[in-house]
Amino acid sequence: MGIRFDVVCFSHLRWGFVYQRPQHLLSRCARNHRVFYVEEPIEGDKPGLKIERWENDVTTIVPLLPEGLSESQQIEIQRGLLDDFFEEHKIERLVLWYYTPMAVPLGRHLRPLVTVYDCMDELSAFSGAPKALRDREGELFDSADLLFTGGASLYAAKRDRHQSVHLFPSSVDVQHFAQARQPLPDPGDQALIRHPRLGYIGVIDERFDPALLGELAASRPDWQFVMIGPVLKIDSGGLPTAPNIHWLGQKRYEDLPAYLSGWDVALMPFARNESTRFISPTKTPEYLAAGRPVVSTPITDVVEPYERLGLVRIAEDAAGFAAAAEAAMAEDASRRQRQADAFLKDRSWDRTWSEMEALIARTAARRSDNGSTVHVRLLDDANAVSAISESMPVPTNGAKGFDYLVVGAGYAGSVIARELAEQGGSRVLVVDRRNHIGGNAYDEYDEYGIQVHRYGPHIFHTNSQEVFEYLSRFTAWRPYEHRVLASVDGRLVPIPINLDTINEIYGLRLSSFEVEKFFASRAEPVEKVRTSEDVVVTKVGRELYEKFFRGYTRKQWGLDPSELDAKVTSRVPVRTNRDPRYFTDTYQAMPRDGYTRMFQRILDHPRIKLMLNTDYREIASFMPYKEVVYTGPIDEFFDHRLGQLPYRSLEFRFETIETNVAQPAPVINYPNERPYTRVTEFKYLTGQVHPKTTLVYEYPRAEGDPYYPVPRPENEVLYKRYQKLADVVDGVHFVGRLATYRYYNMDQVVAQALAVSRRLIAARRAGKEGPLEVDPTQTSARTVGRA
Ligand code: FAD
Ligand code: UDP
Repeated sequence: MGIRFDVVCFSHLRWGFVYQRPQHLLSRCARNHRVFYVEEPIEGDKPGLKIERWENDVTTIVPLLPEGLSESQQIEIQRGLLDDFFEEHKIERLVLWYYTPMAVPLGRHLRPLVTVYDCMDELSAFSGAPKALRDREGELFDSADLLFTGGASLYAAKRDRHQSVHLFPSSVDVQHFAQARQPLPDPGDQALIRHPRLGYIGVIDERFDPALLGELAASRPDWQFVMIGPVLKIDSGGLPTAPNIHWLGQKRYEDLPAYLSGWDVALMPFARNESTRFISPTKTPEYLAAGRPVVSTPITDVVEPYERLGLVRIAEDAAGFAAAAEAAMAEDASRRQRQADAFLKDRSWDRTWSEMEALIARTAARRSDNGSTVHVRLLDDANAVSAISESMPVPTNGAKGFDYLVVGAGYAGSVIARELAEQGGSRVLVVDRRNHIGGNAYDEYDEYGIQVHRYGPHIFHTNSQEVFEYLSRFTAWRPYEHRVLASVDGRLVPIPINLDTINEIYGLRLSSFEVEKFFASRAEPVEKVRTSEDVVVTKVGRELYEKFFRGYTRKQWGLDPSELDAKVTSRVPVRTNRDPRYFTDTYQAMPRDGYTRMFQRILDHPRIKLMLNTDYREIASFMPYKEVVYTGPIDEFFDHRLGQLPYRSLEFRFETIETNVAQPAPVINYPNERPYTRVTEFKYLTGQVHPKTTLVYEYPRAEGDPYYPVPRPENEVLYKRYQKLADVVDGVHFVGRLATYRYYNMDQVVAQALAVSRRLIAARRAGKEGPLEVDPTQTSARTVGRA
């Protein structure tokens, strides 16, 4: 949702301990908001704060306190330290988020916009729970705006104690755990354990029933019991020991699928006492996502809904567990997994977080007395317009208006907006007529939970260190080298054409040296390479040109290669070695969390406001701004007054298949026989693990969204005429693939946007505007003089 806030969370759980509800929710929150996670104090020589920034952008704060302080001294010192920290970090629009009511005294004096109590357990039922816990929880019920409960029993218990109680049961990172559905290599300490293996993952504390495990293990010495998790608050001497019980200790969240993958049954041998009355074990959906059958004691929130839906077997004692586990091992796993998938579909942490975020945003919007301080960010739905209008500065004399109106939230618009806001100190309004940011690079999860690129496959590659480093500020990367096979003469062979391609197509065993001669003997030299046909025919001759390039190009562009500028097919080299990579750039990688996440971070700046679902023409007449950066099609800007510039379009057909892998390469090109040009399987690009797979087929079209400028001489002439018009429009800057009518890759657009931003900032500082033209064809951000 649209409103920005900073979160300060007080928790009794260490962030770096087991990865559970707070970590799942707040790491998602940190994608769009600053998150400060305050843990309980530890001992230090003198008062201070131990600050740590985690990979997922969460900052943890651990107060350090000397020994021997009274409780009130402890509170006073912590408050002072935290207040200084909040001041220094300019915490704004504070959302206070409590996991432990014991921290209430630390937040009492703060003025949060919204207070959330995310109640995970009946804490007062835990062994060693302080007396004050109940009182403080009472105080929190009075002061919190929103009470979230982690399970149905807790919800029922708290429902009448607060006016805004919401049930958010444990969710699951399905993708992560679903990795366990494939056989994974056994971790070293599990490898030698025989089957059948029955396992448990979780904290081992007073909620765990050691006697039940002991009896079960004794009754079935032929079964092996794998226990994973830290032992807490109980005496580990009281845990059963037997040759078939393996206490493996705590493991990293990343490694859990590898353990689960090697189990036959997953267990929840919980004790039935006060401490388990209200639990809603996160491991239930995790076990199910991992594809394991589950046997549990009758914990209320497991019986309903899991047992009712036939997803978990319930047993009361060791004999019951043995019988249930035996039945589970004999059942049809694929039927169980299908049922589990249907249930888990609505249980993702992403969804839970976005619902929580929406509740917070609504509460904050009601509270917000001064809309002009509300930044609108991450607006990806129709609420965008209404949300911004609530928060928009009133357009009075332009005094509170924007320095720049940026049209388009793709690479060109987003990078420029960020630079102008951050380096130029300007106030920037970004509008896009689509309902999302990212332009054509936008990615999303489809209805099956598979990450796809809505506008066709986008693979990042660049030779520009500057561009790569710039984007690295906003994303981590996943190494990825792209590979493509072409379907030619009934075979799938590497494209770009290389030594293997030739040997496979012609049934030869040429060496690199020989293939060079092979090409030379077929190549047809021309005086000057002008067209896309010349590019190929002069290198490899007509036959290979026909097999690999002519049909593809005619389909893709609706033109013969002889009618297209040389730069089109020059994008695809010919090689005499065996390098199968599509690109050879220095930097090749995919944004680890996807393109959309990267764009969210680029646009996440207090001086940037974002408005989606909005054509700039709807607002330009009343929105106060000084200059415009335009990244849409240049001919459209001028109402096509000189005629239409041709843009080639595509229709995308997405298909999801019930199989892990559908094709032998990320992309298969079909130069000849099919109506589509290529088929992409996204999981190769994103590295996602999922039991299903989604493909996209690209059907070239003359009409539709403008995707490709068409490089040919007459279009360049028309573009130049538009460019002349653009030159005389004061205060409007044209940037990007559509606005400068260039067949640019993403990195080239970034380079162009960085160069233009520098010019704009310098011109503004100098109090005047300079002429702009940028040549990023070498993907270096050079600024060149106007021709
Ligand atoms: P866009 O991403 O097109 O953004 C322009 C934005 O302006 C759009 O969101 C549009 O809605 C908005 N807009 C236009 N008019 C208006 C208006 N009147 N009011 C409001 N908003 C408006 N590049 C690579 O580097 N690697 C690849 O693998 C790759 N694959 C590609 C595959 C396909 C199928 C396509 C089409 C492109 C591919 N590209 C690839 C190129 C890449 O998409 C572009 O270089 C890049 O997205 C261009 O960014 P941009 O900001 O210039 O334009
Ligand atoms: N091309 C071709 N056969 C192929 C691959 C590419 O003829 O197997 C030509 C075609 O004209 C295509 C151009 O080379 O449009 C550029 O290919 P690229 O993969 O760079 O296209 P993009 O990813 O931009 O669609």
